Amino acid sequence: MGLGLGVTIALAVSSESLGTLAAPGGLATALGRLTGLVGTYLMLVSLLLVARFPWLERAAGQERLVRWHRWLGPWPIFLILAHAVLITVGYAAAAAGGVIPMAWRLVTVYPNVLAATVALGLLMLAGITSWRVARRRLRHETWWTIHLYLYLAMALALAHQVTAGAAFVISPVARAWWLGMWLGTAGVVLIFRFGLPLWRSVRHGLRVVEVRREGPGTTTVIMKGSRLDRLSVRGGQYLNWRFLRRGHIVHAHPYSLSAMPQGDYLRITVKALGDHSADLARLKPGTWVAVEGAYGQLTHRVIERDRVLLLAGGVGITPLRALLEDLPLGVHPVVIVRASKRQDVLFHDELAHLVKSRGGRLEVLVGSRKQVRLDAKKLRELVPDAAGRDVFMCGPEGLVNGWRDALEGVGVPMRHIHSESFGG
Ligand SMILES: Cc1cc2nc3c(=O)[nH]c(=O)nc-3n(C[C@H](O)[C@H](O)[C@H](O)COP(=O)(O)OP(=O)(O)OC[C@H]3O[C@@H](n4cnc5c(N)ncnc54)[C@H](O)[C@@H]3O)c2cc1C
Repeated sequence: MGLGLGVTIALAVSSESLGTLAAPGGLATALGRLTGLVGTYLMLVSLLLVARFPWLERAAGQERLVRWHRWLGPWPIFLILAHAVLITVGYAAAAAGGVIPMAWRLVTVYPNVLAATVALGLLMLAGITSWRVARRRLRHETWWTIHLYLYLAMALALAHQVTAGAAFVISPVARAWWLGMWLGTAGVVLIFRFGLPLWRSVRHGLRVVEVRREGPGTTTVIMKGSRLDRLSVRGGQYLNWRFLRRGHIVHAHPYSLSAMPQGDYLRITVKALGDHSADLARLKPGTWVAVEGAYGQLTHRVIERDRVLLLAGGVGITPLRALLEDLPLGVHPVVIVRASKRQDVLFHDELAHLVKSRGGRLEVLVGSRKQVRLDAKKLRELVPDAAGRDVFMCGPEGLVNGWRDALEGVGVPMRHIHSESFGG
């Protein structure tokens, strides 16, 4: 990615000369071209980070890729906005005219600039709605739909880059590099975000076979498919599920497997939090299911020690329950499950059985977060050798963050802490 950035900057620099820089508005125009190219390049990179590219996912883990995507996200917006302003200022100076008339001229006369302006508007909308304060107020589905318009924005912006960008107008090599990068990114997105999930869904032909109540507000859905031995999934991973019935087709939701696949059967367990999760209790046997995945780094592949500690908050036990089943022989678990009420503790008997068969220990903490705190002191008391374990945790974000502090407090190195949060 660094190399690509270097080539992109070199493209921008090589299309300038001392003459163009010294001309009226030359510096602003040159900076405008540079910010446009670098901004677009970063945009492609940030798209690739969440394109579900298997090699990247294996190397960095999806959670980390999403974190990088969020961190990188605002930069293309600032840079492309700067590009629009600087180019307008530079062109206005060169024409010895005003900035506003030049902006109007660019949009109405220059080829493809109107489409690029619409693209900039969509980009800014996606940026604003992803801003933490705005995002908290939006439904996930609304935010996601607006985010999808970014693909349209990218397509709208391409033409003006190739027809108007100085670097591309002069050099066929530059044009080939830029188009290659775009086509490469589009190919990765099309194959891994759309093609592969579609192919997998058709291949496995999953259908709901049973829906049962697992606890208060919690539903287990069992699905049957074919050739599930070919679905590469480990205990602790999740898939994005799309139940093919009214109201569920457009949006896929992530749910972890709550058990390892058993022959041709898959199981998920879901707590009703909003429209989608609550509606799963009403799924009818026979409903077709499309899937994307499996994703997630909460698997035994990252274990480096022969002892593990699993910390689960509420329905966060689902991936850990499957992970526990998938632990290699000789890895000894301590499992701590936290729930507000006794009846919210899911899979108690299954957990007790799995823990016992692996020579481990199960601790159940029941009570409100205030009453039953899992701080460093309590952790030391429950798991005196915690610092020597690989730790996996899953639950609501606030809880998981608090546990991370406690784990650091008892000396667990960061690289031995693996977590997944299910949102607020
Ligand atoms: C990796 C992962 C694994 C998960 N595994 C499980 C599980 O095994 N069992 C379980 O009960 N829950 C699980 N969840 C949480 C579950 O995905 C959400 O509770 C569910 O999608 C909420 O949708 P809703 O329409 O019912 O509620 P809403 O009211 O729309 O949302 C409630 C919360 O879920 C978040 N959310 C909504 N839709 C999505 C989405 N498509 N992707 C990510 N977050 C979303 C929202 O931002 C909000 O914080 C998991 C979440 C993630 C990220």
